Amino acid sequence: MESTTIKYAKKKRIALVAHDNKKKDLLEWAEYNKGNLSRHKIYATGTTGKLLEEKLDIYVHKLLSGPLGGDQQIGAKIAEGEIDILIFFWDPLEPQPHDPDVKALLRIAVVWNIPVANTRTSADFLFSSALMDDEYERKVPTFNIYKNREV
Ligand code: PGA
Repeated sequence: MESTTIKYAKKKRIALVAHDNKKKDLLEWAEYNKGNLSRHKIYATGTTGKLLEEKLDIYVHKLLSGPLGGDQQIGAKIAEGEIDILIFFWDPLEPQPHDPDVKALLRIAVVWNIPVANTRTSADFLFSSALMDDEYERKVPTFNIYKNREV
């Protein structure tokens, strides 16, 4: 498939989202990684963002709460190239009212080939990568075949 590249700056735009049963985990993880997080621009869904600001005393660009459209806002930002990395601690044991939005967010992150961590362990591995503080060329399909298809 034809592809192009999108350049990542050293300072990344990172979106953090956690379902209610995972918020404690995300907050603990974020506190441990506060130094690293403070070098980047942080976005979050409404409640996750509020808790992060209270706990870490850092500025978080807060979107709507997930079930009210926040997941879709993050998905739109990924599609528009405004979010570089997604840390999304979703809950595999509890049905969510906004389940279609959750699925859509995970899908769009793959469409645009951004790094995604869905567990605390994968977030640790992602954050210990040397690429976190370096520039990077993200390969993205042009989707020309799809865009130019005959309909
Ligand atoms: P919240 O949304 O941070 O507003 O709780 C998270 C989600 O459920 O997507």
